[in-house]
Amino acid sequence: YLILRENISQQKRSEALLVQQANYDQLTSLPNRNHLLGRIQQAVLKAQKKHLILSVLFIDLDGFKQVNDNYGHLVGDKVLRLVSERLTECIRKNDVLARIGGDEFVILLEGQESTNVAQRISEKIIQRLSQPFVTKGSTLYLSASIGIATYPNDGDSAITLLKNADIAMYAAKTQKRGAFQFFHIDLNRKAKRKLKIQTLLRNAIRNNELKVCYQPLVNTSLDLYGCEALLRWQSEELGPISPTEFIPIAEDIGEIVRIGDWILQSALSQLSLRQSQGLDHMQMSINVSYRQLEDKNFLAKLRNSIRAHRVTTTQITLEITEELFIQDTSNTLDTLLQIKKMGIKLALDDFGTGYSSLSYLTLYPFDQLKIDRSFMKSIGRQAKVMKLLRGIGSMSKQLGLEVVLEGVESAYHRRKIEHLDIDYYQGYWIDKPLTADTFFNKWLDIHVDDEEDKDIAKAHSDQKDIICS
Ligand code: C2E
Ligand code: MG
Ligand code: MG
Repeated sequence: YLILRENISQQKRSEALLVQQANYDQLTSLPNRNHLLGRIQQAVLKAQKKHLILSVLFIDLDGFKQVNDNYGHLVGDKVLRLVSERLTECIRKNDVLARIGGDEFVILLEGQESTNVAQRISEKIIQRLSQPFVTKGSTLYLSASIGIATYPNDGDSAITLLKNADIAMYAAKTQKRGAFQFFHIDLNRKAKRKLKIQTLLRNAIRNNELKVCYQPLVNTSLDLYGCEALLRWQSEELGPISPTEFIPIAEDIGEIVRIGDWILQSALSQLSLRQSQGLDHMQMSINVSYRQLEDKNFLAKLRNSIRAHRVTTTQITLEITEELFIQDTSNTLDTLLQIKKMGIKLALDDFGTGYSSLSYLTLYPFDQLKIDRSFMKSIGRQAKVMKLLRGIGSMSKQLGLEVVLEGVESAYHRRKIEHLDIDYYQGYWIDKPLTADTFFNKWLDIHVDDEEDKDIAKAHSDQKDIICS
């Protein structure tokens, strides 16, 4: 009898363990996805009866991947446990907190009359998670993006509510670090388009849908200084899609590495062709995504392309955005120094839109600062903008940086900026991005006499039908 009892309790223990494993996350002991879905479904039924609403908060940590990459998985695990503790502190006893993926947590709030509580808790969470995490002598900073879906408005099944909260979370992430966003039907459309773009992007190169256009940069006397290579995508299915829409998506799915390689090849082969025709004074600026620079093969690929196309490196500028430093991986500085060693120039693009931390300018070896076109947009309306531009101009001079002003759209703009300490202008008033052929014909007096050269030139610039503005 004793043995039997022992056996039964052993069986019960292992059953309990199985239930535990099927429903709870091992690391944090929080309910897992499976368990959560059940709880949401129950809550929906209850809310239906009582005519109340319920909210699902989808929480995703910003910057957690870097914690794992830079400090290892043990520290990563510790941080996740600390996060789960902080989240627990932000909710009431009856609310459900679950961990449903690597750095994804979900909170279910029941029995409310309005969405005020969801908003208040989201704000509290964002505030709590932005406080530093101290573990094993390191101080780590994270933040969280939160998406909120509410029953009955945003769905009446657990799956739909969770999916819509996830969609809203993605929308929150594109705003800034540490934002929350309520779901609305428009986001659904956007999410569908995003999915479509993700799928189509993978074949865009193979289907010959990508082209590179070139926009001139001029000095203050309006003489040509260089051009910026800008990507264009004419999708067979969706028509023209702006890089501001598809580049972040390509970065999300890692596709930017392949696309970036392709742009580098196109722009360098264009430069190589023009150099072989005697062009030796024009700068070619190429945008490089932070994801490309994180790719450990980037330097080797860059060196190989330069060798293959036999281009003079001093005519190349690579444009980088601040995202690189925000995502900070430890060898960023080293990569940038290696690029400089090749003779290539470095520009900090979109200055004035993000954190615009002045320390980036002293920590990293930049040659050029590109002031974002948002400044020009408000130049007529805000007197302070002129002061800011004046300040950025003279600061850059002190630091030995060249300054490019983007978005010069009109003669009025030109008059406003004439006396600033700016080296180069770029914008529609000077010219729009043009196909390679149009650009070089219009802006550079290069005559192709050699028959062979003509063929190469044609091969390089079969892009007449592409809209470039
Ligand atoms: P960006 O690097 O700051 O490029 C300048 C953007 O400003 C271009 O937009 C250009 O067409 C636009 N622009 C130039 N002058 C004016 C003007 O006077 N007014 C207005 N309103 N806009 C002007 P585009 O081509 O749509 O590219 C947007 C962004 O997408 C780029 O901003 C860059 O961040 C990214 N991008 C474009 N091509 C590439 C690429 O080949 N690789 C990577 N990684 N990113 C790219
Ligand atoms: Mg750029
Ligand atoms: Mg820019």
